Amino acid sequence: MTSRITDKPPQFLSNPPLTLEKNSVSVPPESQNFHWHGFTQMADFQNIVIERAEGCWLTTTSGQRLFDGVASLWCNVHGHRNPKMDEAIRAQLDRVSHITTLGMSADITDQLAERLAEVTPGDLKHVFFSSDGSSAVEAALKMALQYWHLKNQTTPSSTSTAKTRYLALSSAYHGDTTGAVSLGGIKYFHQLFAPIVFTPVRGPLPCSYRLPDGIRDATACDYYAHEIESLLKQHHAELAAVVMEPLVQGAAGMITHPAGLLARIRELCDQYNVLMIVDEVATGFGRTGRMFACDHEGVTPDILCMGKGITAGYLPMAATIARPHVFEAFLGKSSERKQFYHGHTFGGNPLAAAAAVASLDLFRDTQLTETIDAKSQFLRECLAPIADHPHVGDVRGRGLMVGIELVADRNRKTPFDSDRLIGRNVCERATELGAWIRPLGDVIVLMPPLVASNEELRFLADTVTRAIEEVLADID
Ligand SMILES: *Cc1c(COP(=O)(O)O)cnc(C)c1O
Repeated sequence: MTSRITDKPPQFLSNPPLTLEKNSVSVPPESQNFHWHGFTQMADFQNIVIERAEGCWLTTTSGQRLFDGVASLWCNVHGHRNPKMDEAIRAQLDRVSHITTLGMSADITDQLAERLAEVTPGDLKHVFFSSDGSSAVEAALKMALQYWHLKNQTTPSSTSTAKTRYLALSSAYHGDTTGAVSLGGIKYFHQLFAPIVFTPVRGPLPCSYRLPDGIRDATACDYYAHEIESLLKQHHAELAAVVMEPLVQGAAGMITHPAGLLARIRELCDQYNVLMIVDEVATGFGRTGRMFACDHEGVTPDILCMGKGITAGYLPMAATIARPHVFEAFLGKSSERKQFYHGHTFGGNPLAAAAAVASLDLFRDTQLTETIDAKSQFLRECLAPIADHPHVGDVRGRGLMVGIELVADRNRKTPFDSDRLIGRNVCERATELGAWIRPLGDVIVLMPPLVASNEELRFLADTVTRAIEEVLADID
């Protein structure tokens, strides 16, 4: 199947098209100073102001329609203004918007906890709520540390006296709060903050695209499992947990792990008596074609972190879910002070919980997850022509989580000089053409809402194809 910009203009677009001026200013206009945006150079920031959205489309204040190619930062599942989602949030608004979950609860939040236990792998059961993915990871870190502290109090003969460190993978990304940054290994995000973070035991980057010399696809899983086992052998006595993103390391550039590695790490964690924390903030809620990425390899981590897609991208919420053996270690008399010393003001917020329950209802009623493999396949077919472009090194991902890596030299897999901002230029061009996408360096990220139709996926692929062709037309 071929993919090309069709003769008829895409019916989704209402013009005039957007034009982004490149680096035209060095000081933002006064009116743009109030709102300081994350990961954004405010001096040359070209603001795109969204007035409304529907389905997979965003409409700017000046009337342009943009396809939401990154699902509003990897969150949106059932589309914007989904009537069922809107209705559920409105109905909750008529009951109560916020109460604390320290010492009380809302019925909708309790209901959500039970539903999350049902859809997460294995016997994951006890849900701790927070408001963003970073906080879900922070909670998991502290939970693991306190777990070992409590366990070793009750079995003083245990050899593992101070399990207070973590093993994290290279180029890991687990969020931007300080503990999450400590685990992270992406140069620009993390190096600067080295003075205020803890140091994890650093594992390899299990990257299927750039394998070490002498390692083939067939031996890659063994190779990385062996690397991780060596670290566990050496450090298990001090390790509280291994923390990792399953299958795909999103922010690292959609790095895909060799198949089978997740299951191997599960076995190693058991063998070396270390908890396994899996960060499904990006991969959870259908994104990879299963409800959770762990489901692909039948893995049940001890603790699983979720965020982004949990409310289908409607309201801020995140959760950390633990298995009974973790939860039960915290049980005791009040005077024993075993309770989990952690909690967030807005954790379990009822409005967000109503959105999350409505999203799970939609997953069940529309069987959305079962459609993802076919959509993913279709998107890959649409992208097949651009995969042969001399500057496209790799098209990879899982489900509707796709990265297109642009390289200077396809055979040697050499990256472009990052100062050339190739990825950013491609995304800006795609935006002008009607698809809003954001790069990770020179990896073009495609993360459409899971409800995107084949026609919309084709539009996304065509637009990105054209943007890559134009920007890389006469590049040296
Ligand atoms: C986005 C992300 C986070 C952080 O979530 P926030 O809601 O931005 O704090 C953590 N882990 C992974 C894998 C992510 O993709």
